[in-house]
Amino acid sequence: MTAIKEEDLNNPAIYQYLYKLVGEEGMELIRKCPEEEHSDEEIAEITGINLNSVRHTLYSLYEHRLAEYRRIKNNETGWLTYLWVLKMENIPSVLKDEMEAAVEKLSARLRYDENNDFYQCGNCGLMMTFNDAMTMNFSCPQCGEMLVHFDDELLVSALRNRIEKMKSALAEE
Ligand SMILES: [Zn+2]
Repeated sequence: MTAIKEEDLNNPAIYQYLYKLVGEEGMELIRKCPEEEHSDEEIAEITGINLNSVRHTLYSLYEHRLAEYRRIKNNETGWLTYLWVLKMENIPSVLKDEMEAAVEKLSARLRYDENNDFYQCGNCGLMMTFNDAMTMNFSCPQCGEMLVHFDDELLVSALRNRIEKMKSALAEE
C-alpha cells in the first residue's frame, strides 16, 4: 500500500497543488512511498529516489502538514533515527486553508482598490494613487507626461467575481 490514494492523484486540484510543492521527483516519491513509517534512507531505498531528493520532499511536505516524523533513539549508540510517514489524508484541509488564505489576500487587495482612486501615465504606464499623483502635481515622475484618471471598475468587478467564486467553492465543501 502506498500513502496516497489513486483517486487523489487523479484529482487535478490535488495533483497540481502537490506538483507545485514538490516537483517531478517529489511526485514520484509520493506515488511510491509506503503507507507505514520508515527512515528517509529506507524510503530512498524502497522508492529508488536519491536520498537528498527524498529529504527535500519530506521537509517540503512536513512544512505543509503532509508528512510527519517520529524520533527514535538507539540506546546503545545514542543515535537518533527519524521515522517518516506521509499524511496525505490532510490534503483536503490543507487545500482549504490555502484557499482561505488566498481569499483573504484577494479581499485585502479588493478593499485597497475600492478605497483608492488611481492615476496612470499614458506614456510609460506608471500607476499611482490619487494622493501620490497629487503630490506629483499630476505629472509622471518618470517621464513628465500628465497623469490621467485610471478607471479600474472592470478590474475591480473581475476581482470581486473571482473572490465570490472561491468563497462559494469553499462553502460547498
Ligand atoms: Zn510616465
